[in-house]
Amino acid sequence: MRATVMFGAGDVRIETVADARVVEPTDALVAVSRACICGSDLWPYKTMEHSDAGRVMGHEAIGVVESVGSDVLNLKAGDLVVMPFAYSDGTCVFCHEGLHTSCIHGGFFGNEEIAGAQAEAVRVPLADGTLFVLPVGRDDALMPSLLTLSDVMGTGHHAALAAKVGPGKTVAVVGDGAVGLCGVIAARRLGAEQIIIMGRHPDRIALAKEFGATDVVSERGDEAVERVHQLTNGFGVHSVLECVGLEQSMLTAVSIARPGGAVGRVGVPQNETMPASQPAFYNNVTVSGGPAPVRAYIEELLPDVLEGRIEPGRVFDRVVGLDGVPDGYRAMDEREAIKVMVKP
Ligand SMILES: [Zn+2]
Repeated sequence: MRATVMFGAGDVRIETVADARVVEPTDALVAVSRACICGSDLWPYKTMEHSDAGRVMGHEAIGVVESVGSDVLNLKAGDLVVMPFAYSDGTCVFCHEGLHTSCIHGGFFGNEEIAGAQAEAVRVPLADGTLFVLPVGRDDALMPSLLTLSDVMGTGHHAALAAKVGPGKTVAVVGDGAVGLCGVIAARRLGAEQIIIMGRHPDRIALAKEFGATDVVSERGDEAVERVHQLTNGFGVHSVLECVGLEQSMLTAVSIARPGGAVGRVGVPQNETMPASQPAFYNNVTVSGGPAPVRAYIEELLPDVLEGRIEPGRVFDRVVGLDGVPDGYRAMDEREAIKVMVKP
């Protein structure tokens, strides 16, 4: 089968690899209908050391179950499913607590051990716990929005929950990528009164406003902090969604939280230590977040997608076949595209 293989920084190729197949009795084999390129795929795209074997990329997908292992009970061939970016058994103590990304038997797609979904097919471990059967046909117009339930919409929602967004709250979203934009949707959905998008790309800002952002801050660093304080009676916001992961963005996030506020971080941190420890301490700012247990959120978010109340699929501004994936990485890395959908 054909798949997207990253061999090192800037080196993404479409290769013929061994066919995905059922290996364990708890696996499912899924033919990929839609996949996408994630902002987090851009970190290895910038930094990965050369590997001769390479890494089959992709951790977001919708697909059709082709076959299942003998222990899979809840799925059958022909089911249309959404694949969260982490696999999980759905039965352990952490899955029961709704923290599927900490499943004691779980793991992630798109690394050296578990091949990813920017491919014609993908092997899904612990299929009963991992996959969610969608109640629509495979040609449904809602496909782009449903695809975001595999990562970015669930991740934006997780950031909002970690940042304690609620009715009447003031919110700032740091980062105008797909996750930040979904964070705006999530904040509005949870009842936020003021939503400040922090970013500087005109197309993304326009979309953020359509999603519910009330204010825009395009400055950076100290100037950005000052602007947010001006917009919030000098206090800062109740809730900050940190959707970037850089030292500067985290410093900004903590600096714009009002005393007693919360920062929900979902940007993959690129540094070992967390900045702004002292202001976080003196302002009693809660810092929370991590890899989103998107599997736990599909059920809650799905009705809003199906009934058109939220349209997170609008973050996709480019669609490519497998052959277009390497250029899709380039386009996202150069901020030419917000998020690229792949139709293998
Ligand atoms: Zn589990």
